[in-house]
Amino acid sequence: MNFKILKKSKISRARLGFLETDHGVVETPCLVPVATQAVVKTLDSKEVQETKSQILIANTFHLHLKPGEKIIDKAGKLQKFMNWKKPLMTDSGGYQVFSLGFGTDFGLGSKILKKEQERGEAIKENAQPQKIKINHDGVVFRSPINGDELFLGPKESIKIQEKLGADIIFAFDECTAPLADFSYVKKSLEKTHRWAKICLKAHSTGSGQAKKSKQALYGIVQGSRFKDLRLESSKFIGGLDFDGFGIGGEFGNDKKEMHKMVGWVVDELPEKKPRHLLGVGYLEDMELIIKSGVDTFDCTVPTHYARRGIAFTSEGKLNLKQTKFLKKREPLDKNCICNVCLNYKKDYICHLLKAGEITGMKLLTFHNLYYFNTFVEDIRTKIKKGEI
Ligand SMILES: [Zn+2]
Repeated sequence: MNFKILKKSKISRARLGFLETDHGVVETPCLVPVATQAVVKTLDSKEVQETKSQILIANTFHLHLKPGEKIIDKAGKLQKFMNWKKPLMTDSGGYQVFSLGFGTDFGLGSKILKKEQERGEAIKENAQPQKIKINHDGVVFRSPINGDELFLGPKESIKIQEKLGADIIFAFDECTAPLADFSYVKKSLEKTHRWAKICLKAHSTGSGQAKKSKQALYGIVQGSRFKDLRLESSKFIGGLDFDGFGIGGEFGNDKKEMHKMVGWVVDELPEKKPRHLLGVGYLEDMELIIKSGVDTFDCTVPTHYARRGIAFTSEGKLNLKQTKFLKKREPLDKNCICNVCLNYKKDYICHLLKAGEITGMKLLTFHNLYYFNTFVEDIRTKIKKGEI
């Protein structure tokens, strides 16, 4: 993989560049749509390409469980398996496996979590979640499919990701829950940092295949919302011989806080290597994320919201399940030139959603991805013109 910075903004940390992989070039900054099970739900690979998507991220944890990396390896790696000819990333599986732990115990992402935080309850040093066992080498957990006891650690994750064969893979880290206190996160960082070195070693010595195919490995910076720990992690991970860097974990409660926290990390990372923000990206956050100096970021928002009937448009978010849209004979967005907006109207999409027809979700997924990708394309133009 080759990363080149074409322009650096004079008014923010934003930068314009490109990532060159064996499967083509990605213009950055760039949104990375999520293809958890080796598919962007409801679309086929050709349709995804038509939404201006340049690169996808698939999920190591899910693909390891189903169908298993051996099947995918035999099919000629992930890109052949899913007929996606452009660049591809896989995550390490860390986020999913740790979500089975404290995430499940505390109802991660739910309102309960907020209450726990308000009550000052926290995950302290040496605490163990109920359903998984975190040890020195990785995580012991039960398969959500058949209850079998499984183990995932840095070596295992790299081995699986090499078999899956994406262009860019990630180191296995402990993704701490937002409730984790300073002492827990500090101890967790020691693990994440030790695992980062193991991942680098496993990837360079492994089968040898991976290096030959130029599969890039990104290290991941953690440290939650604590400045000291973020700086420590950025310096440590940034000092290792990774091809790029992921920024993971907790980023506070609002956009301003996120911008500040990402800034701490970015300032410590090597300038010339790409940075990927993991799992963040509401439409309203994108400009700020890019201004923080992030080159790529994955997010489920455009696809996840589409399946719930939500379209993103230049007039804001629309809930196409609302009956009023049955009377609107107009495109989702009159300024959008995607295949859906050129050929279908709100009344029909509303009808499909109300009738429970999957094509309704498909049309919204297509439009939302096109809309988000165009949004980021416009940001690239603004960087080029010196406006951002
Ligand atoms: Zn459209």
